[in-house]
Amino acid sequence: MNKEKALYKISQEIARCPLCKKGGTGKVVPGEGNPDAQVVFIGEAPGKEEAKVGRPFVGRSGKFLRQAIQDIGLREDEIFITSPGHYLPLRGKPSKEVIIHAKGHLFKQLSIIDPAVVVLLGSTACFAILDRNIEIVHEHGTIQYVHGRAHLITFHPAYAMRFPEGKKRFMSDFYKLKKLLCREQT
Ligand code: URA
Repeated sequence: MNKEKALYKISQEIARCPLCKKGGTGKVVPGEGNPDAQVVFIGEAPGKEEAKVGRPFVGRSGKFLRQAIQDIGLREDEIFITSPGHYLPLRGKPSKEVIIHAKGHLFKQLSIIDPAVVVLLGSTACFAILDRNIEIVHEHGTIQYVHGRAHLITFHPAYAMRFPEGKKRFMSDFYKLKKLLCREQT
């Protein structure tokens, strides 16, 4: 099966999965992007705008993220974006149960795409992939290896865009991503 078909199959699994839907509403947002992406971005869960259209990061924080991606010289059609939560949470964040469950779907997506680098956008993404609670202010900009793959920790764009200092740190992490990509691809 080619990568595109394999990813489509997972998005269908997510759309049919009752546990992914638990505590959530709106359209399913299974993730999207280039099946051969060298970078995968993992967020938290769709917001209102995303849940209306079924696509990740299309609201305000999405614009901020997509601009940062362009600023380091990546094209949007070169990346893949997904998240542990696939529905707009009815209350705040996706539950621990949903995040732990989502790990299975996330790792399947990652094993098909096989990117050089994964960017963990905020503490929910970190918890889903690294299995621990992370204080992003202390660990942002660091790289963790999981199954031999580099994972860069940074802020969720919705948080970063709110404060000038957050923006500065987020962008410095993105410039690290640029360097990391050059290193991991050689
Ligand atoms: N926040 C996320 O984590 N994902 C989205 O798609 C939008 C906002």
